[in-house]
Amino acid sequence: MGEAISNYAKRILPSTDLDRLLEALQQKGYTLVGPTVRENAIVLEEIEGAEDLPVGWTETQEAGSYKLSRNGSEEYFDFASGPHSFKKYLFPPRLKLWQAKRHRAGFKVEQENDQAPSYAFIGVRSCDLCAIEIQDKVFMGDSYVDPVYKERREKAFILAVNCTKPGNLCFCSSMDTGPKAKSGYDLAVTEQLKESEHVFLIQAGSEKGHELLEALELADADEGAVEFENKQLEDAATSMGRFLDTHKLPSVLKNNFEHPRWEQIADRCLSCANCTLVCPTCFCHTVEDTTDLTGDVAERWRQWDSCFTGDFTYFAGGSARASTKSRYRQWLTHKLSTWTDQFGTFGCVGCGRCIAWCPVGIDLTEEAAAIRATDLVSD
Ligand code: SF4
Ligand code: SF4
Repeated sequence: MGEAISNYAKRILPSTDLDRLLEALQQKGYTLVGPTVRENAIVLEEIEGAEDLPVGWTETQEAGSYKLSRNGSEEYFDFASGPHSFKKYLFPPRLKLWQAKRHRAGFKVEQENDQAPSYAFIGVRSCDLCAIEIQDKVFMGDSYVDPVYKERREKAFILAVNCTKPGNLCFCSSMDTGPKAKSGYDLAVTEQLKESEHVFLIQAGSEKGHELLEALELADADEGAVEFENKQLEDAATSMGRFLDTHKLPSVLKNNFEHPRWEQIADRCLSCANCTLVCPTCFCHTVEDTTDLTGDVAERWRQWDSCFTGDFTYFAGGSARASTKSRYRQWLTHKLSTWTDQFGTFGCVGCGRCIAWCPVGIDLTEEAAAIRATDLVSD
């Protein structure tokens, strides 16, 4: 995705000054949202400061498995993607759109006034930055703009973290979505822990970020720190746990609509929808109307939905995708093929979440490779 655009100077933020940066954001009225440990996972929650970050914690991920563990490291960002992505703050899982109350003259509709806080997203990896860029196209890129998403997005401040230790399920290098944050951030940091020092190399990517950084009065980064950062990112790019060959992948999938592999996946797939809920780019949702017991108040809610549910494509006469085979095929083909026709990029940023959180360990990189290896039609 987008090439680097930042020409701002790189500076050095001592790790002991991380709170100074977070406090400066709070003083500007931002609510901090960042990684923290809860219920045996590193999740995204509102945080108060650096003490809430998962220092000394990491995780191990395999297909169908996520294990949190202590590693005793002093690093703040020594882990890969967890079950949450920032989409839950920009595109809330459940949102009241309006309510109607009975009055003497009939029902009166009251619009919900969603006053979302201004969020400062702390620790956004490059894959998730690209996912936000993808959701921007979905919710704001056409004539139909989602006002809830737009307001939250425009108010948000993004502090990205360049990824120096990709996980076992990561493949952002394959998708050209990481490990270095290229654009779309206000500030980006690279954590550097050496024997004698623990610092963040920090660079602004926007005027907003630049202003904040200037106020902190940090020293310029020296050549050694920048060279070390290059080495960290080169090493990260070559140590991804997964690989996806994207060459002609959209046409390979389109041409193999009747491939027997779809049946084999369907034998394993539970149609549970986990993969779509953890995915930072999936945007399907439904609208539900409810009434209270008195019949005096009605509400309309928007909530996340999934192409894996039976109701998702239900219309008069039944479901358009009644079988698990047709649902998985739709999901994978959309992510890695037809999404490119619709939005000009893949719908996958290589975060690996759907692999870890699939209860039966279905791995889309493995499935795409299997279909390519026994391609029925393509050149
Ligand atoms: S499809 Fe899977 S690997 Fe790709 S962005 Fe979604 S959750 Fe991440
Ligand atoms: S692929 Fe896995 S996570 Fe997705 S619906 Fe099937 S069983 Fe659930």
